[in-house]
Amino acid sequence: MDNIKRVILKLSGEALAKKEGGYNDELIENIANQVKTIVDKGTDVGVVIGGGNYWRGRSNDNIDRTKADQIGMLATIMNCIYVSEIFRSQGLKTNILTPFECGSMTKLFSKDRANKYFEKGMVVFFAGGTGHPYFSTDTGIVLRAIELDADAILLAKAIDGIYDSDPKINPEAKKYDTISINEVVEKKLGVIDMTASVMCMENKMPLMVFGLEEENSIVNALSGKFNGTVVTV
Ligand code: UDP
Repeated sequence: MDNIKRVILKLSGEALAKKEGGYNDELIENIANQVKTIVDKGTDVGVVIGGGNYWRGRSNDNIDRTKADQIGMLATIMNCIYVSEIFRSQGLKTNILTPFECGSMTKLFSKDRANKYFEKGMVVFFAGGTGHPYFSTDTGIVLRAIELDADAILLAKAIDGIYDSDPKINPEAKKYDTISINEVVEKKLGVIDMTASVMCMENKMPLMVFGLEEENSIVNALSGKFNGTVVTV
């Protein structure tokens, strides 16, 4: 796909973590090397990482939703700091931007700053989601992709594409090669959350959904070998 010049890649925090705790360094190094292949070919790559390995914002009698979500946003920053360092160890240049000040740990997001880093060939991590509670990193990635005129969002998932029903439950489940964002919204397919899906629809932001476990899947997403689902707009 030669027309793709800028992508934002979404990684789930849980996918990067080991079941027994800590990070799966081997997997993260593999991701870094795939991203390096894409960056070396001249594509700008932004990265958004979820926080589910540490925390999912949820309220209970003792903790209010806004505070729980703040912890969730901080969890995404910890993930970005770790993964950014692994990327650096693999020879990539990186920077981390957050929508709120984190002292010297990250830099404050602005469109101009992100574009400046992309021009320098850096991978830009967008940590801290939208900076607001009641949102998710799904909405965070769509927001950044739209603001930064990305050509597509790459969603690396535990599953290798979008199915008409859950393949773990229904062995007859059919995988889509392509599906329109309108259909994703109408059928509530839950590829990304509803707020994020509607933002993609209204702003014509396509998605490419594929399995993170599949060998070379990030590189293949930008080549003719793509095996996942394209969400068209
Ligand atoms: N979060 C938030 N605002 C954002 C992005 C994330 O409040 O803009 C919080 C929220 O609590 C969420 C957590 O950070 O549960 C981790 O983000 P992620 O998108 O991974 O959430 P998940 O979908 O795993 O619950």
